[in-house]
Amino acid sequence: MAELLKGQTGEWELVIGLEVHAQIVAKAKLFSGASTEFGAEPNQQVSLVDAGMPGMLPVLNDEAVRQAVRTGLALNAKINLHSIFARKNFFYPDMPQGYQISQYELPVVGEGEIEIDLPDDAVKNVRVERLHIEQDAGKSIHDQHPAKSMIDLNRSGVALMEIVSHPDMRSAEEAAAYVTKLRAILRYVGSCDGNMQEGSMRCDANVSVRRPGDELGTRCEIKNLNSIRFLRQAIDFEAARQIDVIEEGGTITQETRLYDSDKGETRSMRSKEDAHDYRYFPDPDLLPLDLDQAYVDALKAELPELPDAKKASLRRRTRPVAL
Ligand code: ADP
Ligand code: MG
Repeated sequence: MAELLKGQTGEWELVIGLEVHAQIVAKAKLFSGASTEFGAEPNQQVSLVDAGMPGMLPVLNDEAVRQAVRTGLALNAKINLHSIFARKNFFYPDMPQGYQISQYELPVVGEGEIEIDLPDDAVKNVRVERLHIEQDAGKSIHDQHPAKSMIDLNRSGVALMEIVSHPDMRSAEEAAAYVTKLRAILRYVGSCDGNMQEGSMRCDANVSVRRPGDELGTRCEIKNLNSIRFLRQAIDFEAARQIDVIEEGGTITQETRLYDSDKGETRSMRSKEDAHDYRYFPDPDLLPLDLDQAYVDALKAELPELPDAKKASLRRRTRPVAL
């Protein structure tokens, strides 16, 4: 049981749910043939599809699907043989389509589970709610010119998996253990390189506090944490901030926040949008994704040994022998 946080007026329980964006290892983008190699000059890996040109048609990269299914299997998750792609409509200057192709109502992977490793050989299961496939956006660069912003679309359209946990974690330490284990699983499977500093794995932390035994409190979502150290710092800062607000008689409003690692604090970015703000609808350019059970079974049979199995086998081998 994670320890409770002490406020001025009593004890608080911290509740955390994580959304991890993991870039899928694939030579080409999710819906185009453009390269995904890291480190290219800006705008050198952009097809007409990635640039959002009118009339271009997305073509699904089956390697990205294969990697997402393998990852789902490694998370002991339900593979949905029938899933669909949806348009999530919002404006980013570096997202020329004006929408992101994602999955909403029917993701390719459903409920799963990750066993996290805690101090003193303790373990805990954190439930995974879903894993879906979606496109990445491009990148806006603000520090190259005094008055202008630059846009690099190399990342536009790169395949991502978004892996969403249930709100099952109770401390920054558990959240760090979850990301550590998830990253290890992705690397064993080979579906994502897990390099947080290169942005190929990024994490959004949903944080709330409550009195022990109460209903879930209102959450704030801290976006785009790119290291485990920042994840821990952001969660601890955010928990203390929320406790202060509530103890001073205020209320938490659901919002999206940014972590400023120089100042060590989270800052409000925008009020939280709801699903209906995105006007999700099935993408008319893409057929439903229908998989065969035989295809899934074959991928399952070929999975490599995973971190938990390896840990168990090392343990068996190193168990002290009674003399
Ligand atoms: P959204 O698109 O609004 O971020 P998602 O369903 O993608 O919604 O993600 C919600 C995330 O927030 C999940 O990881 C979930 O576990 C977490 N979460 C939901 N409610 C709470 C809460 N009260 N406190 C902390 N985390 C929460
Ligand atoms: Mg979210």
